[in-house]
Amino acid sequence: MENIKVNFEIKKNNLKEFIRILIPELVDEEITITEIGCDKNLELELEVFGKKIIFSYENHLDKLEDQRLVMCKVGLLKLMDKKYPWGGLIGVRPTKLVRRFLNLSYTYEEIEKLLRELYLVTPKKIKLLIDVVKKEMNFLNRDHINMYIGIPYCPTKCRYCSFASYEMKGTIGKYYNEFVDTLIDEIVLTGEFLKENPNKIESIYIGGGTPSILTEVDMERVLRSVNENIDLTYLKEFTLEAGRVDTLTFKKLDIMKSFGVERISLNPQTFNLKILEKLNRPLDRKRFDEMFDYAKKIGLIINMDLILGLPGETTEDILYTLDELKKYPTENLTTHVLALKKASILFKDIQNPIPLDYEKIEKKLFEITEEKKMKPYYMYRQKNSLEWGENLGFAIEGTESIFNIEMIEENQSTLGLGGGAITKSIITQDLNIDKIKRIVSPKEPIAYVREMRERLPKKLELFK
Ligand code: SF4
Repeated sequence: MENIKVNFEIKKNNLKEFIRILIPELVDEEITITEIGCDKNLELELEVFGKKIIFSYENHLDKLEDQRLVMCKVGLLKLMDKKYPWGGLIGVRPTKLVRRFLNLSYTYEEIEKLLRELYLVTPKKIKLLIDVVKKEMNFLNRDHINMYIGIPYCPTKCRYCSFASYEMKGTIGKYYNEFVDTLIDEIVLTGEFLKENPNKIESIYIGGGTPSILTEVDMERVLRSVNENIDLTYLKEFTLEAGRVDTLTFKKLDIMKSFGVERISLNPQTFNLKILEKLNRPLDRKRFDEMFDYAKKIGLIINMDLILGLPGETTEDILYTLDELKKYPTENLTTHVLALKKASILFKDIQNPIPLDYEKIEKKLFEITEEKKMKPYYMYRQKNSLEWGENLGFAIEGTESIFNIEMIEENQSTLGLGGGAITKSIITQDLNIDKIKRIVSPKEPIAYVREMRERLPKKLELFK
């Protein structure tokens, strides 16, 4: 950290992290940043490699207490002539920044100006960001909470996966029955607590893993237990992730429907079957189509997840998947950029990723979603996806997922049950900063089984 010299107080760790991600060539270089003016304008002089610039911008310190830090980051981008679509924004939740500005009484026009001039975000990304925030604002509801139930089992482990999930056929699979029994105990105990300590549950999301891996009998047991023990008076949305069609049956879809689930996610990720085979995520297209048609017939809202840029895929492959997508009358679509995490098996394998024509892909994606009358309604980013850079949720108006919005915005508290579930308590601190308390349940089924009764009271304490 000694290589960064500043004449004012600053979170150097934060700046260092920014440099590591966006300007790695400066990690060990001598950087000098000097505040040379702080009146109508805030003025910083930045120097590295003997090159100097002065970055001057209107003084917003009365509202933006981190303006100096932002200007250090963006000033270094300017100095090094680095241009990124998201400019100096590396956070996972850029929409939260816009909401923070709104809370600070900036107008949308002023926010656009700040993003353009202070953060160097491109006009295209600014428009996307503002459009998404305007949509989200219709749904945010701090007075209610949501519930997440985690089932950390999958039929096979996808090679790019970094989530809490275990193969059913692997050694952890033998704890499946104990896991389901414990989950039902946790739902019953939570229901008892909520009778004494009412919380308004607005949405429930059963995720994982792949929760549709539950046997028909267990799916009915789990859903019945939710229906019988949890007060659903305020429930607006009930989703069960059915990402892998190899786990689905017609009967499971009927069970979901009969217990109030009204949304599922069917996730092809790509329609290039050879790629899926290589990624240990085989897809039977005929079965996919049958399950899709049946889910549609019984009136479930369907989301599809796609990953744009799976290892081995070319631009043409991705365009093919987007074309295939046209065949499915899905209400929601979520597109992900693959950012391999260290926990995935593939992380070490990828040496030479295939360069992709992101502009072409993006153009097609927006054309198709427009044809389907879908609009982007939530988004988040991954730190190491610089060029393309965002995961986007699209929805036909009126089918937006409240749960997804609340999760990404970290606006609503989440009561997390099951394996790997994250419980979050969100407390308003002041106008623009929330205090977030997190409790993570063990993702390993056996640890979850052993520790559930000891851990649950600590989670529930947050909802008194
Ligand atoms: S289906 Fe999802 S959670 Fe399961 S292994 Fe694949 S990526 Fe991981």
